[in-house]
Amino acid sequence: MKDPYVYRERQVPSDDRRAFRLGEGKISGYCSLFLGALSLLAVLAYLYPSWLTTTELRQVYDAGELQQVLKYGMYFSLFFGVLTFALNGYRRLGLAGIALTSCAFALGGYGVPVGPVEPKTLSLGVDWLILAFMGSVAIFTTLEKLFPKYRNQVILRPEWGLDLLYFCFNHLAISAILIYANYHASHFDWAISPAVQGAVQSMPVWLQVVLIILCADFVLYWEHRLFHEVRWLWPVHAVHHSVEHMDWLAGSRGHFLQVFSERAMVMIPLYLLGADEAALNAYVAFAALQAVLIHCNLGLPFGPLKYLLVTPQFHHWHHSSEQPALDTNYSAHTVVFDWLFGTYHMPAGHWPAEYGTTVRLPRTFMAQTFYPLRQWWQRLRK
Ligand SMILES: [Zn+2]
Ligand SMILES: [Zn+2]
Repeated sequence: MKDPYVYRERQVPSDDRRAFRLGEGKISGYCSLFLGALSLLAVLAYLYPSWLTTTELRQVYDAGELQQVLKYGMYFSLFFGVLTFALNGYRRLGLAGIALTSCAFALGGYGVPVGPVEPKTLSLGVDWLILAFMGSVAIFTTLEKLFPKYRNQVILRPEWGLDLLYFCFNHLAISAILIYANYHASHFDWAISPAVQGAVQSMPVWLQVVLIILCADFVLYWEHRLFHEVRWLWPVHAVHHSVEHMDWLAGSRGHFLQVFSERAMVMIPLYLLGADEAALNAYVAFAALQAVLIHCNLGLPFGPLKYLLVTPQFHHWHHSSEQPALDTNYSAHTVVFDWLFGTYHMPAGHWPAEYGTTVRLPRTFMAQTFYPLRQWWQRLRK
């Protein structure tokens, strides 16, 4: 009989060099820099809304009200920038923050007039990037600091910059992703059944949401499983698996081919079910939050929910490079399909000791973007 696998505890040594400590100027330096960069991006979005904002998102927020938020962001960026000088540390970060905010002021600051926007078919989701970044930092870093799985893991862990680049790229591309996903789903017109859609619409909204979650999960399960099990697809998905430190930002790492195909596939059940808008919106919010949450450095036990929904522990196992966990836990929302199709892996009480791929990928954005092409080319030449 084969020896049972011996699970180990993950070791995360404390990292004083990268840690944030009060009074050093590092926290204020990064706050100044990020608020400055976000402010400048926001002002550009106010100046060129038809190019730099998302049609679908504009209907959700009030651009005039958000200018008040921008105002505070700009003043806080200046305040934190000056604080780095007062604290005598990380002045370069403070200076960069002040410089970016000054550019934002020079371009009109929070006083750019807000008017009607002429929608463009294709635009960059600068507004989506800013709102998602601020929301994610507020929700998920707070959760990670309150209930960390690995208390020693720092916010600026290795490769945070690389994952931030993926975060920016995948959020800016939102309008292209939606256009492609809708175009893809429109090929399934032939499968629309008024009887099915009528039955779905006659259900209470909560039941519609449950139905959407299950149908989307089924599609995402098989799409994900194919990315793992079809030799030609794996190099694309391997980029997502190249993360070796898990936190809320790690989930952003994904090759654009995977990001586009995932959204296009999940759009098919959403399109065919024809559920109410309230149910669709609830699903989109649930899916977006869960996708980030499951990558978090979060030790919350989740109680009986962990036997039903995909939780951080479940998805962390999917990212493990340890033998028993390879090619398991494909589901995105519930654990139902992994359980049903025999790919469920949740050893009681254990978390992975190692994350990443068994063959290490290159570590830069460009090299990872071209990684699938290089792999395909090498296989063709064999
Ligand atoms: Zn995977
Ligand atoms: Zn993941």
